[in-house]
Amino acid sequence: MPIAIHPRIDRLQPYEAGERPEPGLPAIKLNQNECPYPVSPKVSDALSRLDPDLLRVYPDADCLALRTALAEVHGLPPSMFLCGNGSSELITLVFRTFVGEGDTVALPDPTFGLYAVVAAMYGAVVRMTPCDSDFRFDPEALASGRPRAIVLANPNAPTGRFVEAERIESLLRRADCLVVVDEAYADFAPPGTSAIRLTERYDHLIVLRTFSKAYALGGARVGYAVTNPRLIEAMKKGKETFSVHALSQLAAEAALRDAAYVRECVARIGRTRERFAARLRAREWDVVPSAANFVLAAPPAGGLSARSLYGQLRERGIFVRHFDTDRLRGMLRISIGTDSDMDALLDALSRLG
Ligand SMILES: *Cc1c(COP(=O)(O)O)cnc(C)c1O
Repeated sequence: MPIAIHPRIDRLQPYEAGERPEPGLPAIKLNQNECPYPVSPKVSDALSRLDPDLLRVYPDADCLALRTALAEVHGLPPSMFLCGNGSSELITLVFRTFVGEGDTVALPDPTFGLYAVVAAMYGAVVRMTPCDSDFRFDPEALASGRPRAIVLANPNAPTGRFVEAERIESLLRRADCLVVVDEAYADFAPPGTSAIRLTERYDHLIVLRTFSKAYALGGARVGYAVTNPRLIEAMKKGKETFSVHALSQLAAEAALRDAAYVRECVARIGRTRERFAARLRAREWDVVPSAANFVLAAPPAGGLSARSLYGQLRERGIFVRHFDTDRLRGMLRISIGTDSDMDALLDALSRLG
């Protein structure tokens, strides 16, 4: 008997993550904004001293040790934190908890593709506000038209553009709806960008963070939401109880407690990004200024198209990202790896002419 698929799922264009290179083949992976450096040695230590009993029993559903560490780092009470299976789970949870069928959700365009996919999954209507020609986004503009929720990434993906926290605050003053600020890349942005402190004063703000990027824990799947306890409790009701694995809680807490290590990784990635961007510009690429661990850049007109560069690099084992949308078709999003990764990429580009 053919089982009916729910029409919302049947119609859904699923989120497409960056490709994983074939195991065993040499590859330079610059397509998922992962950290090119190993996890903090404190994480490796914690995992190597692991009590195997940790795997026998269920994990702490409340992630208390990790939330306590987050509370210390951010100077906010543990009741303002909710940990999830990557910030992806928390994005889904925000829609499940606060957005109903037919509700309008305002997003900048372009932005992280997962938001529109999850919105469609919950039957929400997406309203896009285009970024300007330099890919700057206007947070205040998202508040018009009385949406149910505004979701934005700061720094934005896949552009790397950021706005100061004052601009988020001015959006919060204007918006009488939920405002979600996804800070997946905030560790790379200049000080004064994060909206986390604003969660104390604005009860319609949710900030999302992840351990997948700066903390080099993409495989562990840990993210967190910061907001007032009322919204945290509401989200907890719809959450899969044990979604954050015991090993991942341990790894994230150890990573968080080694602030000096993450600072060093972020500083190195920033230096490599500026060096790489300068070299691309010297070859007449158009590079969007980035405050994240990737750059969005267009190859010079007259040469190979972004799409064909993507394919040719892939054949040479270098994986970058190409988005086939009107606005992004002519560009590549390139994660920042080590200096030697970026040199290999520049080398391959030279060979491709
Ligand atoms: C990478 C990324 C995330 C992180 O997702 P996780 O599920 O935590 O790995 C969230 N938001 C944006 C904009 C991202 O680019």
